[in-house]
Amino acid sequence: MLGGLFVAVVLIAGLAWAFDSLFKKLDKLKEENEKLKKLAYTDTLTGLMTRRAWEPSFEHMLSMLREASDRRADVGEHSVSVMMIDIDHFKSVNDTFGHAAGDVILRKVAQAIKDTLRKTDLVCRWGGEEIVVALDNISKESVIVMAEKVRVAVANLRFPECGDEFKVTVSIGVAVLHERNPKVKLVDHADAALYEAKESGRDQVIYREVGQGGGYQDEKLN
Ligand code: GH3
Ligand code: MG
Ligand code: MG
Repeated sequence: MLGGLFVAVVLIAGLAWAFDSLFKKLDKLKEENEKLKKLAYTDTLTGLMTRRAWEPSFEHMLSMLREASDRRADVGEHSVSVMMIDIDHFKSVNDTFGHAAGDVILRKVAQAIKDTLRKTDLVCRWGGEEIVVALDNISKESVIVMAEKVRVAVANLRFPECGDEFKVTVSIGVAVLHERNPKVKLVDHADAALYEAKESGRDQVIYREVGQGGGYQDEKLN
């Protein structure tokens, strides 16, 4: 009788230990999974969203725009904007001050851009020293003001590690979609506007309004 009780107690204790260690292992796996997810969605250098995180959120913004357009006969109120931002002559910055200093500059530029925009804007490290931002439901006037604020905020940054007077500039392409037009590739238009900004001398913003049918108009802002 006592022997049977002893075996039962040992069995229960053994089972409790096995379950405890199984749950601990599961918790650890969950934690590691979360860390991996965070790594995939957050750029390690800048802390910005990765493209993997940005793309579905941007698609969601566009689908909301289409839905809003479907609900109304009078389309055109709701808008989605994209800013494509690229640091000017960054290769020569790396060549002059080294890659590590370039990393510090990139991190500070990313932070300044994020600090200048609204909390709801999706700021993503697109690749290299290119940053893309999606802005939901913002007027043409406001997005222009924001882009110009971003340009000035970066130009006002200073980098003691590269000397007191050293500064960097950015070129910005902005594209806005006001109306329902699922075929319009906003990112491509913002990219083309950025190219225009580079071609026109850098350190500037080019605003591109995309109409229904894919037609567009570029405007130089500074
Ligand atoms: P542009 O004004 O035409 O944009 O000239 P650019 O030199 O900035 O253009 P380009 O695209 O030719 O060069 C981008 C450079 O950015 C090249 C690469 O060495 C640098 N770069 C990209 N990613 C990183 C990074 O994570 N850290 C550092 N330090 N440099 C980077
Ligand atoms: Mg560049
Ligand atoms: Mg580039």
